[in-house]
Amino acid sequence: MGYLIETVYFLTAALFILGLKRMSHPTTARSGIIWAGYGMVLATVVSFVHPQITAHVSVTNYALMLIAIAIGGAIAWYGAKKVAMTAMPQMIAIYNGMGGGAAAAIAAVELLKDHGDKATAPGTSVLIMAVAGALIGAVSFSGSVVAFGKLQELKFFKDDAKFRFTGQQKVNLAIFASAVLLGLIVAVSHSTSGPLITLFFLLALAFGAMMALPIGGADMPVVISLFNAFTGLAVALEGFVLGNSAMIIAGIIVGSSGTLLTLMMAKAMNRSVSNVLFSNWAALGTGEAQEVTGSLKPMEPQDAAIQMAYASKVIIVPGYGMAVAQAQHKIWEMCKLLIERGATVKFAIHPVAGRMPGHMNVLLAEAGVPYDYITDIDEINEEFATADVALVIGANDVVNPAARNDKSSPIYGMPILNVDYAKNVQVIKRGKGVGFAGIENALFFADNTRMVYGDAQKVVAALIQGIKELG
Ligand code: NDP
Repeated sequence: MGYLIETVYFLTAALFILGLKRMSHPTTARSGIIWAGYGMVLATVVSFVHPQITAHVSVTNYALMLIAIAIGGAIAWYGAKKVAMTAMPQMIAIYNGMGGGAAAAIAAVELLKDHGDKATAPGTSVLIMAVAGALIGAVSFSGSVVAFGKLQELKFFKDDAKFRFTGQQKVNLAIFASAVLLGLIVAVSHSTSGPLITLFFLLALAFGAMMALPIGGADMPVVISLFNAFTGLAVALEGFVLGNSAMIIAGIIVGSSGTLLTLMMAKAMNRSVSNVLFSNWAALGTGEAQEVTGSLKPMEPQDAAIQMAYASKVIIVPGYGMAVAQAQHKIWEMCKLLIERGATVKFAIHPVAGRMPGHMNVLLAEAGVPYDYITDIDEINEEFATADVALVIGANDVVNPAARNDKSSPIYGMPILNVDYAKNVQVIKRGKGVGFAGIENALFFADNTRMVYGDAQKVVAALIQGIKELG
């Protein structure tokens, strides 16, 4: 039976790795998710086949397991069907938190268990791993719950400033140090004391929440990714405790890919991870943001269509608003018309455009945009100066020149798409709504910018109509 279990775990790990590999490209990403899902199903089913996981862990309570799977599965099924594409980040945050919480719960069971028989009792090193996994998992759980609240814009979490106070980092450090100390006492003394272990968990949970609460909403993607890495690490550690190789491998994959993603996202925002965690956007600026001068100059879709139709080079910059309007199919339809007319068309993708990493790539792939048309920030930034029209569709923060030239701006230092260097800029948005960072954008007031107001999908439909009418 042991061989069967290990073979199934090996298969599970292979499916996770192949799934992850497929997720690295938009065209295969969907099947990658499904492959990894099969891996998870295998790992779950095998825990029914083999009730004795290790010498001291057995899984025999099938009724409870089935009830838990039914409740969890139903919530996940309903949630995944209902969730709007734009609410994905908070969904990821909360599911990720569940993973961390589950790892912490496994540790709690192990720590509280009274191993009467000294021969099968776990050693100090195993208990240290259980405690480390518990700490990291609990931090990930409470931190992810806060991240969820912020991204969901729940009232309680709305004002980041109310969670900031002097000496905050020292208080956080004290909570963290106390949790580590208590954890070590529990592990080294092999204590199964309920109050001691409960206090340890409370401190760990408090640290996770305190860490996430003052962080500004715009930094949340990096924070979620970091908690994701934490969850992976916690699961891997608990895998060692249970002697479960599937958990070890899955945890290490999640931990390492989460760490890489965190570093890449922080780099894309020109910030260090510690800067994201221990400062906040509001505090980054050195003072009041510069006054934006000029006026907003509206343009009718018909006029925008004429300008677009006679452009020989067009760069499309999609952002969160394109996702809201689900305008990706229409924009590709328009691009095909321009290409037929002989124009060069490119899409410029900012790494944090939208509300999750790869958000724009996924939408464009869904609309059938060939990968050759899609460029990232480093490839395209030199080219804006040669573009006749740069079309900003529902993007705001990622094209805000304040990041480049206003030291007092909270987004100062974040690399942006150099849209303002284009000969003409058209911006599609519904009105005067600010972006995620909540700040004004001087691009919209620039001499070469025209605002084409309306829902992105409707405006692009009007542009298509206008271009077609020109023959
Ligand atoms: P922004 O959030 O900066 O701006 C989106 C703009 O879209 C708004 O100004 C809004 O203006 C407009 N808009 C909204 N709905 C529509 C619609 N139906 N039709 C047309 N326009 C619409 O988006 P960006 O993509 O430029 O920037 C992403 C921001 O989100 C960054 O600050 C990033 O840090 C943050 N973030 C990124 C995540 C990621 O992983 N990618 C995750 C979480 C946050 P109006 O209301 O006037 O229409």
